[in-house]
Amino acid sequence: MSREELSFLLAGEPAYRSDQVWRGLWQRGQWPTEMSELPKGLRHELAGRVRPALQEVARSQSVDGGTTKWLWQLADGPLVETVLMLYPRRATVCVSSQAGCAMGCSFCATGQGGFRRHLTSGEIVEQVVAARRAALPRRLGNVVFMGMGEPLANYDRTWGAVERIHAHLGLSARHITVSTVGVAPGVRRLAGEALPVNLAVSLHAARNELRDQLVPLNRRYPLGVLMDACASYLQAKGRRLSFEWALIAGVNDTARDASELATLALALPLPAHVNLIPLNPTPGYPGVGTGAAGAGAFQELLASRGVNATVRDNRGTDIAAACGQLAGKPLTLEAVQVPN
Ligand code: SAH
Ligand code: SF4
Repeated sequence: MSREELSFLLAGEPAYRSDQVWRGLWQRGQWPTEMSELPKGLRHELAGRVRPALQEVARSQSVDGGTTKWLWQLADGPLVETVLMLYPRRATVCVSSQAGCAMGCSFCATGQGGFRRHLTSGEIVEQVVAARRAALPRRLGNVVFMGMGEPLANYDRTWGAVERIHAHLGLSARHITVSTVGVAPGVRRLAGEALPVNLAVSLHAARNELRDQLVPLNRRYPLGVLMDACASYLQAKGRRLSFEWALIAGVNDTARDASELATLALALPLPAHVNLIPLNPTPGYPGVGTGAAGAGAFQELLASRGVNATVRDNRGTDIAAACGQLAGKPLTLEAVQVPN
Protein backbone atom coordinates (compact mmCIF):
# COMPACT_ATOMS: atom_id res chain seq x y z
CA MET A 1 0.00 0.00 0.00
CA SER A 2 1.29 3.45 -0.89
CA ARG A 3 1.12 6.53 1.29
CA GLU A 4 -1.57 7.95 -0.99
CA GLU A 5 -3.73 4.83 -0.66
CA LEU A 6 -3.41 5.02 3.11
CA SER A 7 -4.46 8.68 3.16
CA PHE A 8 -7.44 7.73 1.05
CA LEU A 9 -8.42 5.00 3.51
CA LEU A 10 -8.09 7.43 6.40
CA ALA A 11 -10.03 10.28 4.80
CA GLY A 12 -11.81 12.26 7.50
CA GLU A 13 -9.34 11.23 10.25
CA PRO A 14 -6.84 13.71 11.73
CA ALA A 15 -3.64 13.95 9.62
CA TYR A 16 -1.38 12.41 12.30
CA ARG A 17 -3.31 9.14 12.09
CA SER A 18 -1.79 8.47 8.73
CA ASP A 19 1.74 8.77 10.24
CA GLN A 20 0.78 6.48 13.12
CA VAL A 21 -0.58 3.78 10.86
CA TRP A 22 2.32 4.10 8.43
CA ARG A 23 4.86 3.68 11.23
CA GLY A 24 2.94 0.74 12.65
CA LEU A 25 2.79 -1.02 9.30
CA TRP A 26 6.36 -0.36 8.22
CA GLN A 27 8.50 0.21 11.25
CA ARG A 28 6.86 -2.26 13.58
CA GLY A 29 5.33 -4.66 11.07
CA GLN A 30 2.02 -4.43 12.94
CA TRP A 31 -1.40 -5.44 11.80
CA PRO A 32 -4.07 -2.68 12.32
CA THR A 33 -5.72 -4.62 15.19
CA GLU A 34 -2.40 -4.44 17.08
CA MET A 35 -2.01 -0.66 16.79
CA SER A 36 -2.93 0.17 20.36
CA GLU A 37 -2.63 3.93 19.84
CA LEU A 38 -5.62 3.89 17.45
CA PRO A 39 -9.22 4.03 18.68
CA LYS A 40 -10.67 0.52 18.74
CA GLY A 41 -13.30 1.22 16.09
CA LEU A 42 -10.69 2.51 13.66
CA ARG A 43 -8.46 -0.52 14.26
CA HIS A 44 -11.21 -2.86 13.24
CA GLU A 45 -12.37 -0.75 10.34
CA LEU A 46 -8.84 -0.60 8.98
CA ALA A 47 -8.28 -4.31 9.48
CA GLY A 48 -11.34 -4.92 7.32
CA ARG A 49 -10.08 -2.65 4.56
CA VAL A 50 -6.31 -3.20 4.48
CA ARG A 51 -5.98 -6.56 2.85
CA PRO A 52 -2.64 -8.30 3.23
CA ALA A 53 -1.18 -9.24 -0.15
CA LEU A 54 0.10 -12.53 1.27
CA GLN A 55 -1.93 -15.17 3.06
CA GLU A 56 0.13 -17.62 5.08
CA VAL A 57 -0.58 -21.19 3.94
CA ALA A 58 2.20 -22.92 5.87
CA ARG A 59 5.27 -22.12 7.90
CA SER A 60 7.99 -24.71 8.41
CA GLN A 61 11.05 -24.62 10.60
CA SER A 62 14.29 -26.53 10.17
CA VAL A 63 15.20 -29.04 12.87
CA ASP A 64 17.95 -26.76 14.18
CA GLY A 65 15.42 -23.90 14.39
CA GLY A 66 17.66 -21.56 12.41
CA THR A 67 15.68 -21.47 9.18
CA THR A 68 12.00 -20.65 8.68
CA LYS A 69 10.18 -21.02 5.39
CA TRP A 70 6.79 -19.48 4.60
CA LEU A 71 4.45 -20.64 1.90
CA TRP A 72 2.17 -17.76 0.93
CA GLN A 73 -0.82 -17.59 -1.31
CA LEU A 74 -1.28 -14.46 -3.42
CA ALA A 75 -4.76 -12.94 -3.73
CA ASP A 76 -5.30 -14.47 -7.18
CA GLY A 77 -4.04 -17.92 -6.23
CA PRO A 78 -0.31 -18.46 -7.00
CA LEU A 79 1.96 -19.72 -4.23
CA VAL A 80 5.35 -18.24 -3.33
CA GLU A 81 7.92 -18.84 -0.64
CA THR A 82 10.14 -16.78 1.64
CA VAL A 83 13.05 -18.02 3.75
CA LEU A 84 14.36 -16.44 6.96
CA MET A 85 17.79 -17.43 8.23
CA LEU A 86 18.72 -16.62 11.83
CA TYR A 87 22.28 -16.01 12.97
CA PRO A 88 23.35 -15.26 16.55
CA ARG A 89 22.79 -11.52 16.37
CA ARG A 90 21.13 -10.82 13.03
CA ALA A 91 18.92 -12.33 10.39
CA THR A 92 18.75 -12.52 6.60
CA VAL A 93 15.61 -12.88 4.54
CA CYS A 94 15.54 -14.44 1.09
CA VAL A 95 12.59 -13.09 -0.90
CA SER A 96 10.80 -14.18 -4.05
CA SER A 97 10.35 -11.73 -6.92
CA GLN A 98 8.10 -13.89 -9.13
CA ALA A 99 5.64 -16.74 -8.67
CA GLY A 100 7.64 -19.38 -10.53
CA CYS A 101 10.31 -18.51 -13.06
CA ALA A 102 10.47 -18.54 -16.84
CA MET A 103 14.23 -19.03 -17.11
CA GLY A 104 14.10 -22.82 -17.11
CA CYS A 105 17.38 -23.72 -15.37
CA SER A 106 16.97 -27.48 -15.19
CA PHE A 107 18.62 -27.98 -11.78
CA CYS A 108 16.36 -25.46 -10.00
CA ALA A 109 13.00 -26.45 -8.49
CA THR A 110 11.52 -23.02 -9.24
CA GLY A 111 12.53 -23.31 -12.90
CA GLN A 112 11.15 -26.84 -13.09
CA GLY A 113 7.69 -25.53 -12.14
CA GLY A 114 7.48 -22.82 -14.83
CA PHE A 115 6.27 -19.24 -14.58
CA ARG A 116 3.02 -17.98 -13.05
CA ARG A 117 3.37 -14.22 -12.74
CA HIS A 118 5.47 -11.29 -11.60
CA LEU A 119 5.11 -10.19 -7.98
CA THR A 120 4.18 -6.58 -7.25
CA SER A 121 6.50 -4.37 -5.19
CA GLY A 122 4.02 -4.63 -2.32
CA GLU A 123 4.06 -8.44 -2.42
CA ILE A 124 7.85 -8.38 -2.24
CA VAL A 125 8.00 -5.83 0.57
CA GLU A 126 5.40 -7.70 2.63
CA GLN A 127 7.69 -10.73 2.69
CA VAL A 128 10.38 -8.54 4.26
CA VAL A 129 7.98 -7.05 6.80
CA ALA A 130 6.81 -10.53 7.90
CA ALA A 131 10.37 -11.78 8.20
CA ARG A 132 11.53 -8.73 10.11
CA ARG A 133 8.84 -9.27 12.64
CA ALA A 134 9.55 -13.00 13.01
CA ALA A 135 13.27 -12.31 13.43
CA LEU A 136 12.80 -10.19 16.57
CA PRO A 137 14.68 -9.61 18.84
CA ARG A 138 17.33 -10.04 16.16
CA ARG A 139 17.74 -7.25 13.68
CA LEU A 140 16.89 -8.08 10.11
CA GLY A 141 20.27 -7.18 8.64
CA ASN A 142 20.10 -8.37 5.04
CA VAL A 143 17.57 -8.82 2.28
CA VAL A 144 18.59 -11.07 -0.61
CA PHE A 145 16.57 -11.49 -3.81
CA MET A 146 17.44 -15.16 -4.05
CA GLY A 147 14.05 -16.77 -3.64
CA MET A 148 11.70 -17.77 -6.44
CA GLY A 149 11.97 -15.93 -9.73
CA GLU A 150 14.41 -13.83 -11.70
CA PRO A 151 14.39 -10.32 -10.21
CA LEU A 152 15.82 -8.61 -13.30
CA ALA A 153 13.07 -10.13 -15.48
CA ASN A 154 10.67 -8.20 -13.22
CA TYR A 155 12.83 -5.11 -13.08
CA ASP A 156 10.46 -2.25 -12.27
CA ARG A 157 8.63 -4.00 -9.46
CA THR A 158 11.84 -5.38 -8.01
CA TRP A 159 13.41 -1.96 -8.05
CA GLY A 160 10.26 -0.41 -6.55
CA ALA A 161 10.59 -2.92 -3.71
CA VAL A 162 14.30 -2.14 -3.23
CA GLU A 163 13.49 1.56 -2.92
CA ARG A 164 10.75 0.91 -0.39
CA ILE A 165 12.91 -1.46 1.66
CA HIS A 166 15.57 1.22 1.69
CA ALA A 167 13.29 4.18 2.42
CA HIS A 168 10.68 2.70 4.75
CA LEU A 169 12.46 -0.19 6.41
CA GLY A 170 15.77 1.61 6.75
CA LEU A 171 18.05 -1.00 5.21
CA SER A 172 21.05 0.46 3.43
CA ALA A 173 21.78 -0.58 -0.14
CA ARG A 174 24.82 -2.50 1.09
CA HIS A 175 22.49 -4.81 2.94
CA ILE A 176 20.36 -5.58 -0.11
CA THR A 177 21.53 -8.14 -2.69
CA VAL A 178 19.97 -8.75 -6.08
CA SER A 179 20.82 -12.08 -7.69
CA THR A 180 20.48 -12.61 -11.42
CA VAL A 181 20.94 -15.54 -13.74
CA GLY A 182 22.38 -13.11 -16.28
CA VAL A 183 19.82 -10.68 -17.68
CA ALA A 184 22.53 -8.43 -19.15
CA PRO A 185 20.30 -5.41 -19.97
CA GLY A 186 18.99 -5.51 -16.38
CA VAL A 187 22.55 -5.47 -15.04
CA ARG A 188 23.21 -2.37 -17.15
CA ARG A 189 20.07 -0.70 -15.82
CA LEU A 190 21.15 -1.50 -12.25
CA ALA A 191 24.44 0.23 -12.99
CA GLY A 192 22.51 3.44 -13.65
CA GLU A 193 20.48 3.38 -10.39
CA ALA A 194 21.31 5.62 -7.48
CA LEU A 195 21.30 2.89 -4.82
CA PRO A 196 24.44 0.71 -4.97
CA VAL A 197 22.94 -2.67 -4.09
CA ASN A 198 25.08 -5.80 -4.10
CA LEU A 199 24.96 -7.83 -7.27
CA ALA A 200 25.25 -11.62 -7.39
CA VAL A 201 25.49 -13.35 -10.76
CA SER A 202 24.52 -17.03 -10.95
CA LEU A 203 27.21 -18.29 -13.28
CA HIS A 204 27.49 -22.11 -12.82
CA ALA A 205 29.63 -22.48 -15.94
CA ALA A 206 32.38 -20.32 -17.39
CA ARG A 207 32.26 -21.60 -20.98
CA ASN A 208 29.32 -21.00 -23.27
CA GLU A 209 28.94 -24.59 -24.40
CA LEU A 210 28.29 -25.83 -20.84
CA ARG A 211 26.41 -22.73 -19.68
CA ASP A 212 24.02 -23.00 -22.65
CA GLN A 213 22.93 -26.36 -21.23
CA LEU A 214 22.68 -25.40 -17.57
CA VAL A 215 21.25 -21.90 -17.99
CA PRO A 216 19.15 -21.53 -21.15
CA LEU A 217 19.29 -17.72 -20.91
CA ASN A 218 22.98 -17.97 -21.84
CA ARG A 219 21.93 -18.52 -25.46
CA ARG A 220 20.45 -15.04 -25.43
CA TYR A 221 23.13 -13.30 -23.34
CA PRO A 222 26.31 -15.32 -23.68
CA LEU A 223 29.21 -14.94 -21.29
CA GLY A 224 30.97 -12.17 -23.26
CA VAL A 225 27.83 -9.98 -23.23
CA LEU A 226 27.13 -10.74 -19.57
CA MET A 227 30.68 -10.02 -18.44
CA ASP A 228 30.67 -6.67 -20.29
CA ALA A 229 27.50 -5.74 -18.39
CA CYS A 230 29.12 -6.85 -15.10
CA ALA A 231 32.19 -4.74 -15.87
CA SER A 232 30.01 -1.67 -16.43
CA TYR A 233 28.26 -2.34 -13.11
CA LEU A 234 31.60 -2.46 -11.35
CA GLN A 235 32.82 0.66 -13.07
CA ALA A 236 29.68 2.56 -12.09
CA LYS A 237 29.53 1.34 -8.49
CA GLY A 238 33.12 0.54 -7.59
CA ARG A 239 31.87 -2.49 -5.71
CA ARG A 240 32.94 -6.08 -6.07
CA LEU A 241 30.27 -8.48 -7.28
CA SER A 242 29.88 -12.14 -6.52
CA PHE A 243 29.44 -15.21 -8.69
CA GLU A 244 27.18 -18.02 -7.53
CA TRP A 245 28.22 -21.50 -8.58
CA ALA A 246 26.09 -24.57 -7.82
CA LEU A 247 28.67 -27.38 -7.75
CA ILE A 248 27.32 -30.41 -9.64
CA ALA A 249 29.37 -33.59 -9.41
CA GLY A 250 31.10 -34.38 -12.70
CA VAL A 251 29.37 -31.51 -14.51
CA ASN A 252 30.99 -28.24 -13.45
CA ASP A 253 33.39 -29.20 -10.64
CA THR A 254 36.50 -30.23 -12.57
CA ALA A 255 39.92 -28.54 -12.59
CA ARG A 256 39.10 -27.17 -16.02
CA ASP A 257 35.93 -25.52 -14.67
CA ALA A 258 37.85 -23.99 -11.76
CA SER A 259 40.44 -22.61 -14.15
CA GLU A 260 37.85 -21.11 -16.51
CA LEU A 261 35.97 -19.61 -13.57
CA ALA A 262 39.16 -18.06 -12.17
CA THR A 263 39.92 -16.51 -15.56
CA LEU A 264 36.48 -14.87 -15.71
CA ALA A 265 36.58 -13.70 -12.09
CA LEU A 266 39.99 -12.10 -12.58
CA ALA A 267 39.09 -10.44 -15.88
CA LEU A 268 36.67 -8.03 -14.15
CA PRO A 269 37.93 -4.60 -13.06
CA LEU A 270 37.67 -5.91 -9.45
CA PRO A 271 37.99 -9.67 -9.01
CA ALA A 272 34.64 -11.32 -8.25
CA HIS A 273 34.06 -13.25 -5.03
CA VAL A 274 32.81 -16.78 -5.65
CA ASN A 275 30.07 -18.48 -3.61
CA LEU A 276 30.18 -22.23 -4.06
CA ILE A 277 26.92 -24.04 -3.30
CA PRO A 278 27.02 -27.84 -3.57
CA LEU A 279 23.89 -28.62 -5.61
CA ASN A 280 20.81 -29.19 -3.47
CA PRO A 281 18.55 -32.01 -4.56
CA THR A 282 15.39 -31.12 -6.52
CA PRO A 283 12.71 -33.51 -7.81
CA GLY A 284 13.32 -32.89 -11.52
CA TYR A 285 17.10 -33.04 -11.90
CA PRO A 286 19.22 -36.18 -11.68
CA GLY A 287 22.59 -34.51 -10.88
CA VAL A 288 24.07 -34.59 -7.39
CA GLY A 289 26.01 -32.02 -5.42
CA THR A 290 29.78 -32.19 -5.15
CA GLY A 291 30.88 -33.62 -1.78
CA ALA A 292 32.71 -31.63 0.87
CA ALA A 293 36.17 -32.84 -0.22
CA GLY A 294 35.52 -32.00 -3.86
CA ALA A 295 34.11 -28.57 -2.97
CA GLY A 296 37.18 -27.90 -0.82
CA ALA A 297 39.49 -28.93 -3.67
CA PHE A 298 37.63 -26.65 -6.10
CA GLN A 299 37.94 -23.79 -3.63
CA GLU A 300 41.68 -24.47 -3.31
CA LEU A 301 42.13 -24.38 -7.07
CA LEU A 302 40.45 -20.99 -7.16
CA ALA A 303 42.57 -19.77 -4.24
CA SER A 304 45.73 -20.87 -6.03
CA ARG A 305 44.77 -18.48 -8.81
CA GLY A 306 44.08 -15.67 -6.34
CA VAL A 307 40.28 -15.92 -6.38
CA ASN A 308 38.42 -15.81 -3.05
CA ALA A 309 35.67 -18.37 -2.69
CA THR A 310 33.37 -19.46 0.12
CA VAL A 311 31.59 -22.79 0.35
CA ARG A 312 28.04 -22.05 1.51
CA ASP A 313 26.47 -24.17 4.17
CA ASN A 314 23.27 -25.86 3.06
CA ARG A 315 20.81 -24.33 5.44
CA GLY A 316 17.26 -25.56 5.45
CA THR A 317 17.56 -28.63 3.21
CA ASP A 318 15.34 -30.57 5.65
CA ILE A 319 12.43 -28.24 4.84
CA ALA A 320 13.34 -27.74 1.15
CA ALA A 321 14.29 -24.14 1.89
CA ALA A 322 17.86 -24.19 0.55
CA CYS A 323 19.05 -22.50 -2.67
CA GLY A 324 17.15 -23.77 -5.66
CA GLN A 325 14.62 -25.81 -3.70
CA LEU A 326 11.76 -23.31 -3.57
CA ALA A 327 8.92 -24.79 -5.55
CA GLY A 328 5.94 -22.92 -4.10
CA LYS A 329 4.24 -26.13 -2.99
CA PRO A 330 3.11 -27.41 0.39
CA LEU A 331 5.77 -29.77 1.74
CA THR A 332 3.27 -32.56 2.18
CA LEU A 333 2.44 -32.66 -1.53
CA GLU A 334 6.05 -33.50 -2.30
CA ALA A 335 5.91 -36.42 0.08
CA VAL A 336 2.62 -37.84 -1.14
CA GLN A 337 2.91 -40.09 -4.17
CA VAL A 338 -0.24 -40.05 -6.24
CA PRO A 339 -0.80 -43.47 -7.84
CA ASN A 340 -1.58 -43.40 -11.56
N1 SAH B 1 16.84 -16.22 -10.48
C1 SAH B 1 17.90 -15.63 -9.72
C2 SAH B 1 17.55 -15.52 -8.27
C3 SAH B 1 17.35 -16.86 -7.57
S1 SAH B 1 18.72 -17.08 -6.58
C4 SAH B 1 19.17 -16.42 -9.93
O1 SAH B 1 19.10 -17.52 -10.43
O2 SAH B 1 20.22 -15.87 -9.60
C5 SAH B 1 18.77 -18.79 -6.32
C6 SAH B 1 20.20 -19.25 -6.35
O3 SAH B 1 20.22 -20.67 -6.13
C7 SAH B 1 20.81 -19.03 -7.72
O4 SAH B 1 22.17 -18.73 -7.59
C8 SAH B 1 20.61 -20.39 -8.35
O5 SAH B 1 21.46 -20.59 -9.43
C9 SAH B 1 20.89 -21.31 -7.21
N2 SAH B 1 20.32 -22.63 -7.38
C10 SAH B 1 19.29 -23.00 -8.16
N3 SAH B 1 19.04 -24.33 -8.06
C11 SAH B 1 19.95 -24.79 -7.17
C12 SAH B 1 20.18 -26.07 -6.60
N4 SAH B 1 19.44 -27.12 -6.93
N5 SAH B 1 21.18 -26.19 -5.71
C13 SAH B 1 21.93 -25.11 -5.35
N6 SAH B 1 21.74 -23.88 -5.84
C14 SAH B 1 20.76 -23.72 -6.74
FE1 SF4 C 1 14.91 -18.99 -12.29
FE2 SF4 C 1 17.12 -18.51 -10.87
FE3 SF4 C 1 15.88 -20.90 -10.74
FE4 SF4 C 1 17.17 -20.21 -12.98
S1 SF4 C 1 18.07 -20.54 -10.94
S2 SF4 C 1 15.14 -21.13 -12.88
S3 SF4 C 1 16.77 -18.04 -13.04
S4 SF4 C 1 15.07 -18.95 -10.06
